[in-house]
Amino acid sequence: MKGPRFLLDGMLGRLCRKMRMLGLDCELAHSGRSPWLLTDAEKNGRTAVTTATRAVDRCGPPPVILRRSGAAEMIAELFSVLGADPEFAPFTLCLECNAPLAVIAREEVSERVPARISRDFKEFHECPECGRIYWKGSHYEAMERQVEQIMKRLQENS
Ligand SMILES: [Zn+2]
Repeated sequence: MKGPRFLLDGMLGRLCRKMRMLGLDCELAHSGRSPWLLTDAEKNGRTAVTTATRAVDRCGPPPVILRRSGAAEMIAELFSVLGADPEFAPFTLCLECNAPLAVIAREEVSERVPARISRDFKEFHECPECGRIYWKGSHYEAMERQVEQIMKRLQENS
């Protein structure tokens, strides 16, 4: 996967899910690992992102410190600090574990999702890490609207 990779401070769980939804590669620091955020980020070739202005170690490259609130605002701020344009690939990453999703045949999911779901939907994606199955149901439509809103917000910012 191309583009910047991030390690988010453990407090930023909601932002992390939104960023994964947009296809931005980001891991969430485990709770208790905040003091080692910079070291962990450097070790894993990721950019540290936090809202804390202190209380992080000084061993790695400086983190991106976000001061705005709201996912769209924070993502806009992050890329403006980086001086890069985000490359979005919505719905390509698992929201739970950040792994790239793979297409899975309908026949293969029929045992694993409710009968109604395998009857009503044709396209399925599976996370190779956690086995979670994704389809374009009502939850997807709600997320699609969020993606549109975030992208619109970012365009207004640029
Ligand atoms: Zn997963």
